[in-house]
Amino acid sequence: MEADRVYNFNPGPATLPLEVLKEAQAEFLNFNHSGMSILEISHRAPQYDEVHQKAKADIKELMGLGDDYEVLFCQGGASTQFATIPLNFASKEHPGSYVLSGSFATKAYKEAELLGVGEIAASSKEVDFRHIPTQDELTINPNAAYVHLCYNNTIYGTEFHYIPDTKGVPLFADMSSDMLSRPLDFGKFDFIYAGVQKNLGPAGVVLVVAKKELLAKSPETLPTMFRYSTFLKKDSLYNTPPAFCIYMVGKVAAWIKAQGGLAVMEQRNRKKASVVYDAIDHSDGFYRGHADKDSRSFMNVTFRLPNEELEKKFVAEALEHQLSGVKGHRSVGGMRASIYNAMPYEGAVALAEFMDQFRKENR
Ligand code: PLP
Repeated sequence: MEADRVYNFNPGPATLPLEVLKEAQAEFLNFNHSGMSILEISHRAPQYDEVHQKAKADIKELMGLGDDYEVLFCQGGASTQFATIPLNFASKEHPGSYVLSGSFATKAYKEAELLGVGEIAASSKEVDFRHIPTQDELTINPNAAYVHLCYNNTIYGTEFHYIPDTKGVPLFADMSSDMLSRPLDFGKFDFIYAGVQKNLGPAGVVLVVAKKELLAKSPETLPTMFRYSTFLKKDSLYNTPPAFCIYMVGKVAAWIKAQGGLAVMEQRNRKKASVVYDAIDHSDGFYRGHADKDSRSFMNVTFRLPNEELEKKFVAEALEHQLSGVKGHRSVGGMRASIYNAMPYEGAVALAEFMDQFRKENR
């Protein structure tokens, strides 16, 4: 770690690969021999077009997807997708069917409910979202327009470890907090979206990776910018795109490729997660994980300490050890360590060592 930096465990905006930040810094004033910064260049300029196309191609390549899928760059955060998805695809006859596995999954459902086109396929609310509903717990409505999942629940620290069989109903997933963190059979999904500010770049762009056939189906009655078909037809360039964010996402995708792709990300992410979960599991109950073991996230590790006073002390002392952003979300309390792709293994080890030391000093 560089002397003036910390290990950043914030849930998002989150840590980015240092190499990527340095690369962007080096070319900040004169991007691609244009004599302009990427912040200043026209989105119609050929130098920008190269960035746009390469980012799309690298993302699709990493995901192993072909020409039947398109990558869109949208704005308004993943939260806007919660609304535009039901607007584009759901109706009273063909509702959106939602798996409620945490707070963002529930927010997505609420938008569909507001429009009168949402229903619940499963929920783990009764168990405080400690677990991911299993295949047997899902009620698949064959008339549904889609089944919507939140693949990684950033706040509760749970993650899907299987791809549900939706019996032919299109499968939609919010992957905001685990996008490109591991290989998956992405071809089983019809529509994937992710706010990029966790694993992939700065806040300001949302990736949509979806079947072209589906994206083309937006109702013509929707305002232009709310239709996915507009983004599809205009290659996400109908209006001014967030060029800097897309440029950074492109750099992160290229970085993932250079590291060896999603299989290497998964290997590293599992290793980091096991170091931190081990510190919880070997603490004689001092640390209590929020998630059930079989639903644990590789991205966000959530845990509590014996009391809130100790939790405050933990956060303060962690910072003295250059471990930043470990405070949990207010709805779960306790701690949350976000260990996305760019968190180095050494960061997870530093956190686990600090946890051991803190436990010994405070039990
Ligand atoms: N979905 C998930 C899984 C998230 O973690 C978040 C943000 O933390 C969101 C959606 C909301 O994203 P945005 O802030 O981009 O609207």
